[in-house]
Amino acid sequence: MLATNYTKFTGLDIWFGHGAGDPGATSSGFQEQEMVRRLQTNLKKYGDKAGINIRFYVGNMYADNNVAWSKGRAVFELHLDSAGTAGQGGHIIIQEGIGGLDAIDKNIIEKLKENFGVVNRDGAGYDERSDLANPRRCAAANINYRLVELFFINDSTDRNYFLNNLDEVSRDLISAFIGSEVGQATTVPTPTPSQPSKKPTRWINSGSTLHLPGTVSKWRVYRENGPYTVGNEVGYLNPAKFGGLTYEIKGDRMNDVVVIDTRDFGRVGIYVAKSTGATIKQNWIEVEA
Ligand SMILES: [Zn+2]
Repeated sequence: MLATNYTKFTGLDIWFGHGAGDPGATSSGFQEQEMVRRLQTNLKKYGDKAGINIRFYVGNMYADNNVAWSKGRAVFELHLDSAGTAGQGGHIIIQEGIGGLDAIDKNIIEKLKENFGVVNRDGAGYDERSDLANPRRCAAANINYRLVELFFINDSTDRNYFLNNLDEVSRDLISAFIGSEVGQATTVPTPTPSQPSKKPTRWINSGSTLHLPGTVSKWRVYRENGPYTVGNEVGYLNPAKFGGLTYEIKGDRMNDVVVIDTRDFGRVGIYVAKSTGATIKQNWIEVEA
């Protein structure tokens, strides 16, 4: 399955073909409009599982001519094919001249192949047409759209397969949209019981020290939380007077600043980049979290 650009759409709209008094194709007492609408519950389930925003147009979009309802979204319009002599398999229809199939289309064709095969007359699994209203309207409105003919309603094998696999067909359509299998049982690796699980740990600073060399007589210190810029100092340390000074590091700040406790200024931030001559002795220990 191909990765798709589905996240660039605000969601997926499913238009069910025909309806509102138009039965679509009929065969052996089955109606196209009723058959495709049987997918709604499962499509909703897998749409939710995939975390996408999914909507259904259960009216007759062809008659309503309301394609702007799906502006900014991707559209699957679901139909069943019909023929005087039953063909076999499914296919999709896209508007001629929109630049061919996208990854979503190709994924749908792959899923049609898995479930019904693709119709004999166009082994590629799709037609480009310019004489159908909804493909033309969507192309004009720049809506990502394909009409999906799932199978031939008068093919009893595919019809029975469909009725027995509404869940799988629905899952496959959602998977085709997002470009990965949705809602499959994931195999969770079983921990080996003989291996005791490692307790979580964290590293703490335990007596890391800062040494200021005795060659410097004025070393700026700042408020603990800065700003650590010249002019904002709260005072000066004088390492030279003491032949150098050593402090326990109480905390780290970004950009070569550490926090120490001083006798004269309390807790301060101090700039200790390598270039200053300061040396830091790190002592970190691992403890239970
Ligand atoms: Zn139809």
